[in-house]
Amino acid sequence: DKDLQGKTALVTGAASGIGRAVALLYGQHGAKVMVSDIDEAQGRQVVAELQADGAQARFFTADVGDAAQCRQLVQATVAAFGTLDVACNNAGITGELSLTADYSLEGWQRIINVNLNSVFFCLKYELEAMLKQGAGSIINMSSILGQVGTPTLAGYVAAKHAVVGLTQTAAQEYAAQGIRLNAVGPGYVDTPLLKDFSAATKHALVGLHPIGRLGRAEEVAELVIWLSSDKASFVTGSYYPVDGGYLAK
Ligand code: NAD
Repeated sequence: DKDLQGKTALVTGAASGIGRAVALLYGQHGAKVMVSDIDEAQGRQVVAELQADGAQARFFTADVGDAAQCRQLVQATVAAFGTLDVACNNAGITGELSLTADYSLEGWQRIINVNLNSVFFCLKYELEAMLKQGAGSIINMSSILGQVGTPTLAGYVAAKHAVVGLTQTAAQEYAAQGIRLNAVGPGYVDTPLLKDFSAATKHALVGLHPIGRLGRAEEVAELVIWLSSDKASFVTGSYYPVDGGYLAK
């Protein structure tokens, strides 16, 4: 099924992990894909994979922590493909691993900028473009840590919770104009994001998921595709876990 045939889809953080899987699946579903990341070499590789698969795709370098670059990214997408129908605001980092009292002031500003301000910046310009069309679907990448906390990740947890609230608010504001917004909450997924975690930590993380393993990026991408498509036409303002049962405990 090509659920996004002819639509234009933008993905941030699309050079790696979940964003890469989303971009590739967007292409398989018939979308024209704008691949964006700060990692140009890896991002261009994703574009090459999409093109080899017969999809239209472009790369645009944007640091999502910079509002002007987010504006340019949206402009470049509309200029290249004519519309912006779907956006997956996915770029993110883990940030500092410290107890809250030890969390550095710089580290706090950085994680809030890259994981939260970025979503607001992208949303602001994506909404502007979608309002002109009177239609659109936006998926913001939260986390299970957008619903519960965990030690040493205060900045990450705060940002991911805030992404859910931002999604719920904008969803109400723009529902009447045909724009849907939803948040996705992956459990731990085996991607380069977990590279700073030791083998022992990763093993312990497996135990937090009743399914008994970490998630795969493609398993998150399948949910993102559905939310992006018209199949989810009555779904807005929701938080969807895709977490191997993590939040069920
Ligand atoms: P990843 O590290 O594999 O990919 C993240 C991508 O974002 C990288 O290509 C990186 O270059 C890019 N990026 C980082 N900072 C950026 C910036 N300032 N501007 C533009 N691009 C930037 O990570 P992932 O696991 O695929 O994570 C993707 C999203 O999913 C993140 O928002 C993350 O918080 C979320 N998430 C991941 C997990 C997990 O366990 N992997 C769990 C829940 C949520």
